[in-house]
Amino acid sequence: MDAAPPATAAWQAGTGREKITPSDALWMTGYATRDHPAEGTSQELWVKALAVSDPAGHRGVLLTLDLCGVTREISDFVSTELMRRYGLPRSAVMTNVSHTHCSPWLEGSIMGLRIFPPDGIKKAADYRVELQKKMIAAAAAALDSLAPASLAWGEDTADFGINRRENPEKDVPARRAAGTLRGPADPRVPVLAIRDAATGALRGLLFSYACHNTTLSFYQWHGDYAGCAQAELERRHPGATVLFTLGCGADINPNPRGTVALAEQHGRALADAADRALGRPLTAVVGGFASALEDVPLTFATKPSAAELREAAEKDQPNKAMHQAWSAAVTAQLRTMGDAILRYAYPVQAWKVGNLSWAALGGEVVVDYGLRLRAEDKGNLWVFGYSTDVMAYIPSERVLKEGRYEGATSMIPYGRPGPWTPGLEEKIVAKTHELISRTRGQ
Ligand SMILES: [Zn+2]
Repeated sequence: MDAAPPATAAWQAGTGREKITPSDALWMTGYATRDHPAEGTSQELWVKALAVSDPAGHRGVLLTLDLCGVTREISDFVSTELMRRYGLPRSAVMTNVSHTHCSPWLEGSIMGLRIFPPDGIKKAADYRVELQKKMIAAAAAALDSLAPASLAWGEDTADFGINRRENPEKDVPARRAAGTLRGPADPRVPVLAIRDAATGALRGLLFSYACHNTTLSFYQWHGDYAGCAQAELERRHPGATVLFTLGCGADINPNPRGTVALAEQHGRALADAADRALGRPLTAVVGGFASALEDVPLTFATKPSAAELREAAEKDQPNKAMHQAWSAAVTAQLRTMGDAILRYAYPVQAWKVGNLSWAALGGEVVVDYGLRLRAEDKGNLWVFGYSTDVMAYIPSERVLKEGRYEGATSMIPYGRPGPWTPGLEEKIVAKTHELISRTRGQ
């Protein structure tokens, strides 16, 4: 009698990818100081898809994008089409962006960054339509190529991400050398390996890191360190589709920064971490797939007065174009939404991938969430930020109290009325635990 196949062989996996580098000179995103469109391509941008199907045929598809942000409208549009074509529930489609700042500004995103000229807005609208098609095509390719696979995970670390609120950029080399870096950071690099069930060949690799993808600030399209890490791992593992998900790294920066060579250096550091994890015994994924997605009702604490909006539009100050854009965006929202401007439906998503769980949180999530959720969880949990809808920074209660950029002033580029109302951390953490627990019970 033949030996029974390993339990993990009952899973299936498939991958897909589409190039999403703009073919046109679109406006770039990420930095309010940008004052003209992109000048060219230094590295291609990609949407990649990983589809999984458990032994009972329950499927999910993860889309990772070399983009700075994604809107709820785009994530929902793509999910609706996949629901129609493949019968996937909304919660079984997960989107995560790498937050590269060398990517196009997306229509409807980060509305206080700058008032873009009409032709820039038109090109962004056209790009969005193409982007959605490519996201659907990548997901379809992944779902259509589902084949028996073994899934297994491990973890290693990388240390180029430092807490940017507690360490002035120029002080980092000395503090790093002296071992005196301050503030929380999360060096963990979780890795999921997808191997062909028959041959053992590596077909897919997913890895994550909690650090702003902002080594670069030039006017070229580029995936930054995350793009370099993916490219490096795909070079080292021919035939594998390598996907990156960004963790809770909103207050973490890579260091040092500024050149493509440094982005490549950080990329190699991450690739090395992933390969170290792959070189050790991994834990096999065993069990079924389940998913959940719900919105947490959050509120903004304050809305500006008409006088404050007028002053922002007129005052001579640094980043004047950003303040003008914030004023225009908030004024427009107040006109159409009134007091509803103070409410926001914040998405929390959970996946059970056998004995592994993923939480995917919307927005630019600070490191406290990743550390806390994993410390409190009783199972095997990975936490991604920058998922479904990147609508603002998501400070922890600590960071909200401290204020500054991640706690308060980043609401200006994001075109939001004011800081979040205290209490958001408990609401988000409670909902995440609830959804993780619910999916584990399925
Ligand atoms: Zn950011």
